Amino acid sequence: MEHIHVITRVGEKVLAGVEISREEASQLAAIPDADVPFLLAMADKIRQKYVGDEVDLCAIVNGRSGRCSENCKYCAQSKYHDTNVAVYPLMAADEIVAKAKEAEVGGANRFAIVTKQKLVAQIVLRLLPVEKGWKETKSFLKY
Ligand code: SF4
Repeated sequence: MEHIHVITRVGEKVLAGVEISREEASQLAAIPDADVPFLLAMADKIRQKYVGDEVDLCAIVNGRSGRCSENCKYCAQSKYHDTNVAVYPLMAADEIVAKAKEAEVGGANRFAIVTKQKLVAQIVLRLLPVEKGWKETKSFLKY
């Protein structure tokens, strides 16, 4: 019952437009499985108030895959893990733009390129032609 009170109190605070504290967020994270349906019901009430039934679609493309030099334990793209993930270098700009257009046709209004690696500068430089190509059709590419 104590957890239901926490969910109600914190949920009502959010519904009133008040930010919750770190401690309150921690309390929500510690809600036991048995009370999660109540937490979900409160989350849905908050969703209804702030976003209604509108759905915002975004899409991603895996712009570069496999053999990542990092060793994140959960990731199939790390070269340290034996997985069957597809391995390929950075996709050509035309291919990425085609994927973005495909996403738009499918209803997405945002599109992102996911790449495995830590050298962001290199990717940004190589993707400049993508931005140019995409702006010729519609300017919604954000990264
Ligand atoms: S792709 Fe990203 S998450 Fe995966 S191992 Fe590399 S850095 Fe880590």
